[in-house]
Amino acid sequence: MSDFQRFPVQLYNSLTRKKETFEPVAPPHVGLYVCGPTVYGEPHLGHARAAITFDLVFRYLEHLGYRVRYVRNITDVGHLEDEELDEGEDKIVKKARLEKVEPMEIVQRYTLDYHRGMDALNCRRPSIEPSASGHIIEQIQMVRKILDNDLAYEVNGSIYFDLEKYAASHPYGKLSGKVLDELQSGSRQTEGLDEKRHPHDFALWKRAEPAHIMRWESPWGEGFPGWHLECSTMSTKYLGEQFDIHGGGMDLQFPHHEAEIAQCRGAYGKDPARFWMHNNMVTIDGAKMSKSAGNFISLDQLFAGDHPLLSSSYHPMVVRFLMLQSHYRSEIDFSDDALQAAERGYRRLMEPLKRVDDLPEVNGAEGAALDSQIRSWCSECYETMSDDFNSARTLAILFEITGVINGLLHRQISTDRISPAVLEEMTETFRTFVTEILGLEPVEESDERRTGQLVDILIDLRARARVTKDFETADKIRDDLAEIGIRLKDGKDGKTSFEIDA
Ligand code: ZN
Repeated sequence: MSDFQRFPVQLYNSLTRKKETFEPVAPPHVGLYVCGPTVYGEPHLGHARAAITFDLVFRYLEHLGYRVRYVRNITDVGHLEDEELDEGEDKIVKKARLEKVEPMEIVQRYTLDYHRGMDALNCRRPSIEPSASGHIIEQIQMVRKILDNDLAYEVNGSIYFDLEKYAASHPYGKLSGKVLDELQSGSRQTEGLDEKRHPHDFALWKRAEPAHIMRWESPWGEGFPGWHLECSTMSTKYLGEQFDIHGGGMDLQFPHHEAEIAQCRGAYGKDPARFWMHNNMVTIDGAKMSKSAGNFISLDQLFAGDHPLLSSSYHPMVVRFLMLQSHYRSEIDFSDDALQAAERGYRRLMEPLKRVDDLPEVNGAEGAALDSQIRSWCSECYETMSDDFNSARTLAILFEITGVINGLLHRQISTDRISPAVLEEMTETFRTFVTEILGLEPVEESDERRTGQLVDILIDLRARARVTKDFETADKIRDDLAEIGIRLKDGKDGKTSFEIDA
């Protein structure tokens, strides 16, 4: 019996709004498609959250014995500024215009940045990472299918999806709960409306104006594909007309994912994915992250500590740990305090991990005092992870196990309370979940950072000595540090800082 039969995955399906038992179309194969980044800016926490969420799904399903084909796209054309009404300038073309470079230079730069950021967060690369501009022919073919099925119309070289006609014979809005009538009546008047029959019809193909740089030949003249089309085309090309899981951020449910469903049904007559998974958003100090609010933090700034909201730099593993401490469907609030706490939690998990091979031998008989408790923690790791990827609860159980590891290391738990077989199961489960499934690895601290931490410990000891009027010790700490070139400075606010001579 394989692990996926022993621990069947219960998955919250956004389409039905309930947890369902996950059964792939053709086990042990699983097709997973996730909407990737539009590469026109630096990677940030929103990118990290989606990547870490689906990296966990990828890692755990593979661990259970599934063979996952994970496809995540790169959007390099067609994503317009007004996403809801599908209007405005192409985000990549705009950035290229502002920086006076080729759009493909923007695409190259930010694709590399994205890879660097996600690699640092220990997200495994997907099996296939297709780009929209590399699939123009396939997208044109899909537009033709939808036109043949009479669910799209052409106006002046642009092709629009006929949402009203589609909704008359297909379910629309299942994912987002949006009702088409309300959408149509509540929408703003826009420039594009003279071409579209209805404001929420979206472009499958757009005519390129003379100045538009990114353009391709098509049966309808030169143009470029609409944003939603690439995901329908590439997901079905690599995973089949119906595949297992489609993922992405919650903000993509509408209009992007509703449009994907409509396009696939319009072309192939079936829902593309059986399960839709959506990760929740990231806030910063309780507010939505945005450049205009001044709380936008890029991953590079976070890793370097280079932002007014941050008191220090944070290792990518700490960021990953903080993400995994929340269930993927809950919002996460990032703050300096939360990062500090995550750093402590991450260390509490890494110390026992590093020493798990140094545990003393145990000699309990089978069924020894702690055996059944430890065994149940080990299976709970699987149960919680199979319960809609509840990494938060899995981490809590792993911390219970660290209690046993530390107890053995510090000789607080006697070795006859655990049997050898159970100890082996525990160390194996612990190591597997922390590193292989959660993707958390120990990092070598830089010497500089460690020196800073040591001096902070000494400053704290000196302050304690002063409180107890042990001035001799307090002065000795200060003088001995000065002798090796570390000078302490007592501030007016009672805080002590330090400087290290070059
Ligand atoms: Zn997409």
